[in-house]
Amino acid sequence: MPETPSQPVPPAPSAQPDETARSAQPAQPGFIPGPPGERIISTDRGLDHGLDKCPRCGSSDVAYSIPDRALVCGYCRNTWNEPVAEEAFNLGTPIEELQGSVLASASRDIADDATTMTIKCQGCGAEIVLKTDESLQARCHWCRQVLSVNHQIPNGAVPDAVLPFTLTREQGIAKIQEFVASRRGFANRAFLREFVPENVKGVYMPYMVVDGNLHAELRGTGEITTRRYTEQRRIGKDTTVTETFWDASVHEVGRSFDILVNDLATESSSRYSRGQEVVATNYVLDAIQPYDTAAAFAYNSNYLSGFTSERRDQNISDLDSDVEEKFLSIGREKVRPTIQQYTRGVRWEGEGVAVRGTRWVTMYVPVWLYSYYQRRGSGEAYVHYIAVNGRTGRTMGSVPVSHPRIFSVACAGATVAAALAAVVGWGSLFL
Ligand SMILES: [Zn+2]
Ligand SMILES: [Zn+2]
Repeated sequence: MPETPSQPVPPAPSAQPDETARSAQPAQPGFIPGPPGERIISTDRGLDHGLDKCPRCGSSDVAYSIPDRALVCGYCRNTWNEPVAEEAFNLGTPIEELQGSVLASASRDIADDATTMTIKCQGCGAEIVLKTDESLQARCHWCRQVLSVNHQIPNGAVPDAVLPFTLTREQGIAKIQEFVASRRGFANRAFLREFVPENVKGVYMPYMVVDGNLHAELRGTGEITTRRYTEQRRIGKDTTVTETFWDASVHEVGRSFDILVNDLATESSSRYSRGQEVVATNYVLDAIQPYDTAAAFAYNSNYLSGFTSERRDQNISDLDSDVEEKFLSIGREKVRPTIQQYTRGVRWEGEGVAVRGTRWVTMYVPVWLYSYYQRRGSGEAYVHYIAVNGRTGRTMGSVPVSHPRIFSVACAGATVAAALAAVVGWGSLFL
């Protein structure tokens, strides 16, 4: 059990890369020294890789049970959970006190992308090779005990926390059936013929969950209509036209305010954020948010047993411009109710977010994922996904559409851009 800090996070040293500031930082339990302005909270279990036994009987036959919402020992039926990560690691200190970057230790940069590792079995001494891209557990070939990756490894495969499934496989299948049934009229016949919802897979997707203590500034021009009137104008001998005029007062508008962002979840596997096909997948994964990330448990690989997991391969530096853009759009939303008086709208000419502090936690979130490989006329394969939030049942996906249907949709005036937006709504128009 890692140590947890017992006091609130003190202010980080100044952003200046100053050695004095760094060494002046008080040593705190649970903190690992990091670069100046960066504070790392250890969430590592501190166990050796290998057996991860039932605390009551010592069996390694442990798996997460969705109906029990707990880890269950297959031998003595003991049930338990790891502590809630936010509480165990003191990751819930007030956001307004965040200064600099606070990183839960598994969100540190990936130092090594090797995915094969060898674990020595404490049961029989055998050495077992494990592909951490696919699983964080393997059964010893010799003594049949389950071996687990029990502490953080530098390739991003082990998160700080796991949010386990609460929606059962059967409930996931029902959601996917419902989704497809409501799109049956549009769907491609081959897809409907080959639709086997039982092929759904339980997948843990890697997310970075970010809190932000921010200051935002927006500057621009707002206009208020003061008068609207029409005038008749003669253009030629017998023709007059009616012209409408508006008078407006023009104002400089500025907004300067603090924002506290709690648990912004960002997907952190490049497989789902690259290339055209995945534009759609990203929409799909975004659309089934949110997750109740505050309920996530401290990592234990037994939660992942029987599911697949996608390894995180993105670092904070790969995600932070995206996160900053999301912070800024949260800011624009927050300002909206304060600019209602500008009846002709506000044009923002300058905007920016100063980040005072952020806190990053890596987490696996549960998704029931159905995929369908469609062969296009050109012979290339295109993957469609239907995803179900493994906590809330929220469902989104892309279903291949039949040609005559697309034609009628296109005639109804859908542009390519609208079609792109619609891809997650009622089917794919990429054909
Ligand atoms: Zn047991
Ligand atoms: Zn063994």
